[in-house]
Amino acid sequence: MKTFTTKQPVHQYLLQLKATGKSIGFVATMGALHQGHLSLIQLAKQQNDIVVCSIFVNPTQFNDPKDLEKYPRTLDADSRLLEGAGCDVLFAPGVNQMYDDNEQWHLNIGETEHLLEGEFRPGHYQGVTQVVYKLFNIIPAGRAYFGQKDYQQFLIISKMVQMLKLPVELVMCPIMREPGGLAMSSRNVHLSADDRQHALVLSGTLNHIKDKFTPDNIAALKQEAAQLINAEPGVALEYFEIADGETLHEATPQSKTIVALVAAKVGNTRLIDNVVLAGG
Ligand code: AMP
Repeated sequence: MKTFTTKQPVHQYLLQLKATGKSIGFVATMGALHQGHLSLIQLAKQQNDIVVCSIFVNPTQFNDPKDLEKYPRTLDADSRLLEGAGCDVLFAPGVNQMYDDNEQWHLNIGETEHLLEGEFRPGHYQGVTQVVYKLFNIIPAGRAYFGQKDYQQFLIISKMVQMLKLPVELVMCPIMREPGGLAMSSRNVHLSADDRQHALVLSGTLNHIKDKFTPDNIAALKQEAAQLINAEPGVALEYFEIADGETLHEATPQSKTIVALVAAKVGNTRLIDNVVLAGG
């Protein structure tokens, strides 16, 4: 695996490979890699000649400075995992490679970025689209792989690609889970043993709702889910929504895709999860 920490060299290197007809698959991450990230690398490997992974803890998508500070950073271990997974290129820039001092611009994707996560993390998706746009300009990939774990993020990046007519195909990859059902996340390292136990209510509730789902009982199911989660000690629910998979407003029986999405604080750790209930 070749590792780059600066923009121009990785850009030139990949352009040369592309000129020889190689296809490039790209996985953007913030590091602290786990099997969820590696599943994206694996799919990218199956579908492309060259796989590129970026590791960059993007400061502009954190609205809470403490969250940014305590975000796990494990570059050496990540690098070994990527090597083992057969990743070809790692791009791990420092903040000054990605941002000038005091950059003020952002993209405006529309109302989707202000709903759900956007409501609880104002400005989060402006930071996400800013960094992903920059990464897409550096890494000339034909395909980019993102997890369903961050469903709203996928939707917003899709809208960005559509709006700006970027020449990249987005691929959504399934959520990887721990044996008990907890969605894998870099933030799970912050969970205590008790937190881990309590956190199971999130995937448990999503599964329960999936089992009971019919398009005409959306409001009642949403209420039931909130009650189940609120009854769990150590868990503070932020939102549980049964949403139209395109607009993220509450689903209607006519919605083509329906997704249940949840965010909650478990102890001091904020977790998100979701499940597709219909369509998709
Ligand atoms: P992150 O490092 O959290 O920014 O995640 C990088 C990419 O990995 C994103 O596209 C995530 O959606 C994806 N990802 C994170 N956790 C999982 C998981 N448990 N299963 C599948 N993909 C995931």
